[in-house]
Amino acid sequence: MEFKIALIRGDGIGPEVVNQAVRVMDRIGVRFGHTFYYTDVLMGGCATDAVGKSYPDGTAEKCRACDAVLLGAVGGPKWDGVSAEKRPEAALLAIRKDLGLYANLRPATLRPALKSASPLKAETAERGIDLMMVRELTGGIYFGKRNRYQTIDRGVECTDLMAYSEMEIERIGRRAFELARLRRKKLASVDKANVLETSRLWRSVMHRLSAEYPDVEYSDVLVDNCAMQLVRDPSQFDVVVTENMFGDILSDEASMVTGSIGLLPSASIGDGAPGLYEPIHGSAPDIAGQDKANPIATILSAAMMFRYSFHLPDEADAIENAVDAVLAEGYHTADFAGRGEPIGTAAMGDLIVGKL
Ligand code: NAD
Repeated sequence: MEFKIALIRGDGIGPEVVNQAVRVMDRIGVRFGHTFYYTDVLMGGCATDAVGKSYPDGTAEKCRACDAVLLGAVGGPKWDGVSAEKRPEAALLAIRKDLGLYANLRPATLRPALKSASPLKAETAERGIDLMMVRELTGGIYFGKRNRYQTIDRGVECTDLMAYSEMEIERIGRRAFELARLRRKKLASVDKANVLETSRLWRSVMHRLSAEYPDVEYSDVLVDNCAMQLVRDPSQFDVVVTENMFGDILSDEASMVTGSIGLLPSASIGDGAPGLYEPIHGSAPDIAGQDKANPIATILSAAMMFRYSFHLPDEADAIENAVDAVLAEGYHTADFAGRGEPIGTAAMGDLIVGKL
């Protein structure tokens, strides 16, 4: 088969980690008989330097012409002082919005060889962590109306509006149920229905959907309880779905309990438009250009691309197994512990390609 992939290499370690993912994808192409056509798309601080905008005109169109987008990372201290339009982070929000990417999928997986990297107690880590956090990405309080005004007797007062429609809840809910069907068929929906009206609507829509997916074991979890359970026993979770702000916080918590941010991929998907796949880490300017970055999160993001955009689970499994095989031999980059001296970005790429 043939696929078109947009590559947003971005800033800092972005180009280095994307290079290794491209090598892995090319190897998959040879092994499974696929051809990949890559289109480089300029976005982030490098775009600000080149054309004066972090999100150049035509960026979304270039991505839409492809089947999926792989992004390294954008941003860095060099652009901290620039105007809003030139800020690399603005480009990230713009592309998610323009491509209609309303569902953010963040797997938190404790790779078998790295159980000791988890900050959890050994007996808890031993039970394993393999969950998928599904976060609503384009609604809720982050996109609601903001207000700031002077009161007569209480100083300045601010409000942030949290709003959700049935349509927004239903489309993310369906995504989560479908994902649960592809996994262990368990779905926890996280809300604060004992307090918030948006959560009560969220819960009622989820209950309606759960009747359509009787094969998926469904549960409601209050957000405060979920935060505790992720530390007490994350092995109980399979797919977890929640609104934007709860998901922002819980997905970082879930990542931390697995040990290294250099290992975790993510996907942002919508209806029809190409999905965007990226590591959860940033551009790591402190180690950029030194062959120290861990490319595994980006390589696993490519695996997610095969699974969720190209519907090629065997290819995705092959990449994940190759990563696990290299980790099982004790190889590691400087950001996590392993056997012997850390190896570099390119050497880690070599080993993973070698296993494929
Ligand atoms: P960061 O994730 O870039 O780095 C945090 C720490 O983790 C650093 O010490 C870094 O060296 C290390 N690290 C991160 N990824 C690593 C990897 N693959 N291998 C080895 N070590 C790794 O977070 P930050 O320092 O808060 O942000 C740096 C820049 O990245 C900022 O400009 C920020 O806005 C941007 N950022 C971009 C994205 C994105 O593109 N999606 C996400 C987060 C942050």
